[in-house]
Amino acid sequence: MTKNLSILQLYPKDMNIYGDWGNVLTIMRRAQWHGYTPKLYEYNQGDTLPKDIDIIIGGGGQDSGQDKIQTDLLAIGTQLHELADNGTPMLVICGLYQLFGHFFRTKEGHDIKGISIFDLETHGGSERMIGNIVTGSEQFGEIIGYENHSGQTFLGKNTQPLGKVIKGAGNNGQDDYEGARYKNVIGSYMHGSLLPKNPAIADWLIETAAQRKYGEFTPTVIDDRFATNARLVALQRPR
Ligand code: GLN
Repeated sequence: MTKNLSILQLYPKDMNIYGDWGNVLTIMRRAQWHGYTPKLYEYNQGDTLPKDIDIIIGGGGQDSGQDKIQTDLLAIGTQLHELADNGTPMLVICGLYQLFGHFFRTKEGHDIKGISIFDLETHGGSERMIGNIVTGSEQFGEIIGYENHSGQTFLGKNTQPLGKVIKGAGNNGQDDYEGARYKNVIGSYMHGSLLPKNPAIADWLIETAAQRKYGEFTPTVIDDRFATNARLVALQRPR
């Protein structure tokens, strides 16, 4: 029997920078290696969400890109909430991570509203946080990426971060937290792209989707030599 996994990429036209597209490529390829047939849907403004969604991936964008998609995102917010509440695995980076929270308030005081899947808010600062970043996490070990944002994100009281910053700024450059988690939704500032260098997260997204859909997941042993090397090189890079 062919086992399909439907992957939805949110707003590839407007929210897709610093290599975020690589997250989709990684999910597609690793899903194949694990024995699944991935089907990719792209969702841009004005599209209709497909019925069958197993994994959602979203990227970062400029403030102007966030502004552009705001109305559309708010319109599909309830559907995305339902999917999140039902345990659909999702990964959202930077600009969409911010908009999965309550709002992004730009430096000029203009609010771009979010869909509040995460209990967090983001305030535009005057300093950009740019550079290589390493985050420590219990579940995935060291997570390695690259950040470039001016927004400072503050988690609500009951919101778990993805991890603790080892090198870099993370959510706001102050409290050492990086990213956020809600059920099977991961938000993070880490571009890079994130998943090629962090296959543990890619496989967790695939495993979670497969378990939900088919009630089982038997991983293939994948030769991750290149990913391991990329991690070692990235770890040694200066900030
Ligand atoms: N515009 C947002 C910020 O600078 C998001 C940037 C991004 O997605 N890289 O905070």
